[in-house]
Amino acid sequence: MQGEWVSYWGDWEGRPFRVRVFPGGMTLSLDMHHKVRVYTYDATGRPWTFLLEGRVYRRALNGSMLVKWREPGGPRQRLRLPPEEARREEARAREYVAAWVQALRTGRARTRTPLPHRVWKLLERILAFDEARSREDAARYLQVYKPIGILPPDQYLSVVVQVTEGCSFNTCTFCTFYRDRPFRIKTPEALARHIQAVRDYLGEGLFLRRHLFLGDANALVVPMPRLLPLLEEVRRGFPEERFQEMYAFLDGFSGEKKSPEDYARLRALGLQRVYIGLESGDPDLLRFLRKPGTPQDAVHAVRAMKAGGLAVGVIVLLGAGGHRYAQGHVQHTVEVLRAMNLERGDLLYFSELVVTPEMPYARDALREGIRALTPEEQKAQMEAILKGLAYPKGGGPHVSKYDIREFVY
Ligand code: SF4
Repeated sequence: MQGEWVSYWGDWEGRPFRVRVFPGGMTLSLDMHHKVRVYTYDATGRPWTFLLEGRVYRRALNGSMLVKWREPGGPRQRLRLPPEEARREEARAREYVAAWVQALRTGRARTRTPLPHRVWKLLERILAFDEARSREDAARYLQVYKPIGILPPDQYLSVVVQVTEGCSFNTCTFCTFYRDRPFRIKTPEALARHIQAVRDYLGEGLFLRRHLFLGDANALVVPMPRLLPLLEEVRRGFPEERFQEMYAFLDGFSGEKKSPEDYARLRALGLQRVYIGLESGDPDLLRFLRKPGTPQDAVHAVRAMKAGGLAVGVIVLLGAGGHRYAQGHVQHTVEVLRAMNLERGDLLYFSELVVTPEMPYARDALREGIRALTPEEQKAQMEAILKGLAYPKGGGPHVSKYDIREFVY
């Protein structure tokens, strides 16, 4: 089943439907031309996404669900359903799919060409993925992984391999992703066990995904003599063509500095792009955020990566430091991004600052009387930075928003 995309069309009491099978999963588009319902499952029967009444439901491996929609003319809305509520949505979907399967079995629904055995097998797996199985799956995720807090938006479909756990800094006041764990570098033996556990857990659903992401926050701070055997272990563990490309964050720059030659060696092992949380080019703002390293460290890191043949994805934090730092944030971020010489193949992400009450940032901002930027002011900040950069049309990096509230693994 790997490698092929096949569609089967049919009719369910006057309502057309389509079954599409692809590497790692299957999509059922039911009630087409009417009130289309789209259900996608991975090849183990695990729910992946539903599209119902204009709302997208995306199940995370921890059993929660992100729901996204937009009312006509309104802003984008999102809601994260906790596992209990998510399981109710899964049950509703399963009931509908079960009714359709029953119709297929009794001849009230028909396909133009008979469904092959493998499709029936997938349908059985979908129906067998009941509430108990869903709970068990979410519990197993927590045995295989330390919860994955964030990925760059273009990496949501990657398979995460936690070469390291946590963040080696864990000081930034606006970041709570890794507060629950100490930084840890796996041994090659522990990594080999982790890789096997990831493969066993994702099962055939593995092939719904492409590429590998080396977790967690800064796997690339690992010194080269320890990093190379780890990446070789990753290579051995994922020999398939679709997993040849690797991606990673490098966050905080005061750790071990790698040379262009080091990055070229990592490139030879499959590393393609490194994502760098620059946040700002303003050293005063970085100090306020308690982000380790200086903007110049980030420029050196980017230059070394590019000289070593890697692409980069640089992340700027919109609204950081509110009004107090806004001017310096724009001015110095433009200077630093210019010095990085980002080009085609690189990414420039703008991530809106999202402050939750438990973040040290919330306390610091209150103490210093910092007024937050409104969404409109954050948008204007992004436009001011882009104006300062003046990338030529069709040149420069790909520019995009990075909304951490939309992350799902
Ligand atoms: S370096 Fe990155 S991952 Fe670590 S605490 Fe700061 S923002 Fe979070």
